[in-house]
Amino acid sequence: MQALLIVQSLRGRSKPGISGYDVGPRAFHFTMNPLRDIVSLFFPPVCAACGSPLPDGEAFLCNRCQWEIPLTRYWEHDDNPLAERLRAYIPMVHAVAFYFFAHQSPFRDLVHDFKYRGRWRSALRMGEWFGAEITPLFADVDVIIPVPLHLRRRLRRGYNQSEYIARGIGAAMNKPVDTHSVVRSKHTKSQATQDGGDRWDNVEGIFRVRKPANLEGRHVLLVDDVLTTGATLISLADAILRAVPDSRISIAALAATHEKT
Ligand SMILES: [Zn+2]
Repeated sequence: MQALLIVQSLRGRSKPGISGYDVGPRAFHFTMNPLRDIVSLFFPPVCAACGSPLPDGEAFLCNRCQWEIPLTRYWEHDDNPLAERLRAYIPMVHAVAFYFFAHQSPFRDLVHDFKYRGRWRSALRMGEWFGAEITPLFADVDVIIPVPLHLRRRLRRGYNQSEYIARGIGAAMNKPVDTHSVVRSKHTKSQATQDGGDRWDNVEGIFRVRKPANLEGRHVLLVDDVLTTGATLISLADAILRAVPDSRISIAALAATHEKT
């Protein structure tokens, strides 16, 4: 029993300040602060990006990383370069990314960890921060939809990292997250094995709107972790707009590359 409590406390340590909304069965809530303090003596919390120890009172990113993260500030300009690029392909209300994705950067490792090291709490916290910044631009959004994973990949990984980003955004914006209305009906190769990430020929027709009535007349905010070409998000937006012509689409990607299509 004690071992279980210690494990739960360890899992909960990197999730300060999250309360008041459901993050699913993996969420833990703690009241045993003395035990948590003892555990933290042996397993001090570290920055989710650079891995340096976090002093008491700092959130999941150290002060230096919070200062150095290359934010796009796209949410301050509706006609930002990302929105202009995506609008060439599909009608788009707004499109933003939170930070620039660069190789050899601790923030690349951060988003990589979302997928491959089970750091879904970091995805949730980044989503909360992102959501707080973009709330003014997305005031009239009705529902948030994370890019769905194919069931096979979701079962293998155990979770969808974009769903946690979306849940963080939803919590900050006080908007619902919908993970049921759209599904990924085709299994595609992992982006990590491809040059250029989400390639066009790999994503066409991979999404299916299962419950179009849920999205009728809605302004839908699509959420993804990393946007490279934008092909995945455009394919998802296209599927929704075809199935629900009176819906409106916006996009929020946590990270975006500088490259153009
Ligand atoms: Zn750091």
